[in-house]
Amino acid sequence: MGKIILTGDRPTGRLHLGHYVGSLKERVRLQNSGEFEKIFIMIADAQALTDNFDNPEKIRENIIEVALDYLAAGLDPEKVNIFIQSQVQELTEFTFYYMNMVTLARLERNPTVKQEIVLRNFENSLPMGFLTYPVSQTADITAFKADTVPVGEDQLPMLEQAREIVRKFNFTYNTDVLVEPEALIPQNETCRRLPGTDGKAKMSKSLGNCIYLADTEEDVQKKVMSMFTDPDHLKVSDPGKLEGNTVFTYLDAFCKDEYFAEYCPDYSTLDEMKAHYQRGGLGDVKVKRFLNSVLQEELAPIRERRAKWQQDIPGVYEILKKGTEVARAEAKTTLEDMKRAMKINYFEDGALMQSHIDKYAK
Ligand code: ATP
Ligand code: MG
Repeated sequence: MGKIILTGDRPTGRLHLGHYVGSLKERVRLQNSGEFEKIFIMIADAQALTDNFDNPEKIRENIIEVALDYLAAGLDPEKVNIFIQSQVQELTEFTFYYMNMVTLARLERNPTVKQEIVLRNFENSLPMGFLTYPVSQTADITAFKADTVPVGEDQLPMLEQAREIVRKFNFTYNTDVLVEPEALIPQNETCRRLPGTDGKAKMSKSLGNCIYLADTEEDVQKKVMSMFTDPDHLKVSDPGKLEGNTVFTYLDAFCKDEYFAEYCPDYSTLDEMKAHYQRGGLGDVKVKRFLNSVLQEELAPIRERRAKWQQDIPGVYEILKKGTEVARAEAKTTLEDMKRAMKINYFEDGALMQSHIDKYAK
């Protein structure tokens, strides 16, 4: 069996640079690598509803935005299968049975879930569905027998949880129907968790510190020029710090040496620019202008593709509909295998009825 990818995003807003470097860019590379037999990209609307259940309109509006961002980023519907989670109802059935494979204490210990609970101020009103979303994520991954899950670093605890559930399931039912997935995180360390423009640990829709893939040129420039740098770097001649300096963090994620010749010929590598900044004599505005040029260069082809797809919304809906049909068929097959392993295939199992006939035959 060839290698299979499952990954996705919550349609709680448009996709941003964090998604791009953390996962999207990697997906495009993998799609073109020819190493994968099947690639499933999921718009996780059911998961998004776990903390937005009272605002379904937000999710409804953002599904198309995420789909447009996917196509804009270069995902090719000929090579990947984009689908909508809630429309593959088999996934909820997987989740139901996996709930028994994990304890409440284990879910409460999941560091990502813990952090997100604090972030959302859930305190005593934590929805059960939110707490158990790692279980539903396990369903999403295993339903497609995915072995590779390209994600940002914040998702590592989710993958660990999925692996545990798979092992427990396979062991309990003495089967190998479920496949243990591996996370694939970006090689470039900065890309694993891109900070927000405010310098906070993670660029995230919920924190409002994002540069969106669909932002206009002017938006991007405005956001870059007001970005967080070194608060002690007051005069150009002052030595500057790189640690926690978001402008340099973004350059670590996006800069290629060839950009210097075109946009900042005083340097030929990022290390040279960094050294000058640390020595003193290089102002924030110059570095920000360079970052802006780099980002505009990266975003221009994405913007162009988005503009084209925006003129073909029925085409995008068709892609989602077809993708969802393929995903459903796949999930259905795995679900049948899974239920057979659990021995909850009563009507399929002729031997079961026969044993009951025999039991009462005397
Ligand atoms: P929300 O605030 O609704 O949770 P989000 O911005 O965290 O949204 P998700 O849809 O939860 O986005 O994440 C989708 C994928 O993007 C995941 O693989 C996640 O690891 C990755 N990702 C999200 N933000 C970043 C980031 N700042 N850096 C790297 N990867 C990221
Ligand atoms: Mg998230």
